[in-house]
Amino acid sequence: MTSEVVLITGASRGIGRATAELFATRGWRVLINYYHSEAEALALRDKLRQQGCSVETFRANVTDRSQVEAMVDTCSRIFGGIDLLINNAGIANSILFQEITDSEWDRMIDVNLKSVYLCSQGVLRQMLPRKRGRIINIASIWGITGAACEVHYSAAKAGVIGLTKALAKELGPSNIQVNCIAPGVIATEMLTGFNQDELADLKAQTPLGRLGTPMEIAACAWFLASKEADFITGQVISPNGGFVI
Ligand code: NAP
Repeated sequence: MTSEVVLITGASRGIGRATAELFATRGWRVLINYYHSEAEALALRDKLRQQGCSVETFRANVTDRSQVEAMVDTCSRIFGGIDLLINNAGIANSILFQEITDSEWDRMIDVNLKSVYLCSQGVLRQMLPRKRGRIINIASIWGITGAACEVHYSAAKAGVIGLTKALAKELGPSNIQVNCIAPGVIATEMLTGFNQDELADLKAQTPLGRLGTPMEIAACAWFLASKEADFITGQVISPNGGFVI
């Protein structure tokens, strides 16, 4: 029996990287997408291959339709299809609303939201005829509650949640499930902009008293990809240590 195939966007670092490691070491064939972090992506590929995993890498800017289509085509050609897309690539930035420029607004929406639209359209070209497949989108608690000084990020992630719900309704009759993970504060390079006091404050606001780990988000994706999640679609699962209840 051939193993299933997952395409993970933004898998060179952080949550995407942990997700690639989890799925690959549990027998899935994994396409690791990256854009800027080529050395990290290739090192991850080599490490996983040394463990006997089946992994490939593909450099693509997920905001660019032609690059996304080339990535999806390559994944299908190498692995013979795509069973699961995890839309994980994202960027964040802390800035006062009045200081956001048009280009910063567009980039935030493009990387966090337009990418989900482009990559989902790409994989659906082959999932729809097969009437089989799953999409998992990585949003954020800020897409649920909103965050001061991250209005563009919050708007993009709220958009991801809305897209997830609407697409789940549209694709349910085609036996394709679409779900969303809205993580709390997770220890990755995305937090680089926060100083020690701000990080301590975020921990203090979290009932479990700590930041989440990338692997804890990967584990949620693993569950949503599993047979046990067969009846789940259009949902938002939020691993956040109790930050948002
Ligand atoms: P991270 O460590 O900064 O990693 C971001 C990933 O996105 C990198 O692999 C990066 O790849 C990729 N990426 C960025 N722009 C891209 C583009 N144009 N095309 C392709 N890939 C691109 O961040 P993270 O914390 O793992 O975040 C992963 C996801 O979780 C994001 O959607 C984020 O919004 C969400 N999230 C994170 C947290 C948190 O606290 N960390 C909380 C809630 C939600 P390259 O470096 O190769 O360009």
